[in-house]
Amino acid sequence: MTADCSPRFLASDNTSGICPEALDYLIQANASDDLAYGNDVWTHRAADRFRELFDYDCDVFFVFNGTAANSLSLAALGQSYHSVICHELAHIETDECGGPEFFSNGSKLLTSPGDDGKLTPEGIERLVTRRSDIHYPKPRVVSITQATEVGTVYSREELLAIRTVADKYDLRLHMDGARFANACSALDAEPAELTWQAGVDVLCFSGTKNGLPMGEAILFFNKDLAEDFAYRAKQAGQLASKMRFIAAPWLGLLESGAWRTNADHANAMARYLSEGLASLPGASLMFPTQANSVFANLPEAVIAKLRARGWTFYTFIGAGGARFVCSWNTTTELLDQLLADARAAFEDA
Ligand SMILES: *Cc1c(COP(=O)(O)O)cnc(C)c1O
Repeated sequence: MTADCSPRFLASDNTSGICPEALDYLIQANASDDLAYGNDVWTHRAADRFRELFDYDCDVFFVFNGTAANSLSLAALGQSYHSVICHELAHIETDECGGPEFFSNGSKLLTSPGDDGKLTPEGIERLVTRRSDIHYPKPRVVSITQATEVGTVYSREELLAIRTVADKYDLRLHMDGARFANACSALDAEPAELTWQAGVDVLCFSGTKNGLPMGEAILFFNKDLAEDFAYRAKQAGQLASKMRFIAAPWLGLLESGAWRTNADHANAMARYLSEGLASLPGASLMFPTQANSVFANLPEAVIAKLRARGWTFYTFIGAGGARFVCSWNTTTELLDQLLADARAAFEDA
């Protein structure tokens, strides 16, 4: 075993750099000047490619990050007196500093528990029917995260069941797709199957975690809801004047197919790590590994030893729960080093 204690990154899929396909297009877009504010050829081409990939004439917007994509699209789905139903572990609830509430001028998030990080039709219905009076913020939106915050995925059937309850109560459906590509890969599904064909009104599709320098696409399948959205994004400071440098790398992912092969690779690496961790005596998995995140229960002493050896990872789900996230450039060599360090840490724990 090496005595290497330099930082090694499995904390998130945003610790990785830019994938070659995105970088190639970034450089191409830099070869000549072009119009600003999304009037350039790259932005038009990327929006068209999204429409082809999703086989749907959706409205496409680009923003810098996921918090903005979620906050602004949720704000577009309701009024300030409406509420948004989400899982209690949802990123919009726990990790966006109140951004969704702020940009919607006060829409309240109503949270529900659910196994494996997933909302259920029953959980949604319970929140909708809990009250019907004027004093309760009127439920208007359901937000689901695909893949979820705990590395699981909603199946097509689960999505359709959520859409059924949403239809029953006239709710709009928002999808936080920070790891949407990983979900498509996990389910071997076409993007259309997991979005508009399942009644999703708006998708926030992350490029950052898939291999871009930065940038998220917001796809409105329900185009009525996109009315004036460009103004909302501009007011929020999310209209990039050199938008081509977000759009062109996206085009690199879409035209090369890297959006999907990056996700296939990240998911395969997570499966490899998950099997390795599960085989360590004393370790156990907290959730099924379906996408690119692995959650393991590790003794605090093992966590401390791994940290001392330079490993970066998060422990936000309860004591002893360690999250490792794989990305487009994770290697089995890196994962073997982690597994060796973990095995050694267990032995002298
Ligand atoms: C990373 C992430 C986001 C976006 O986060 P930003 O840091 O704002 O780009 C949104 N939702 C989920 C589930 C995420 O993991």
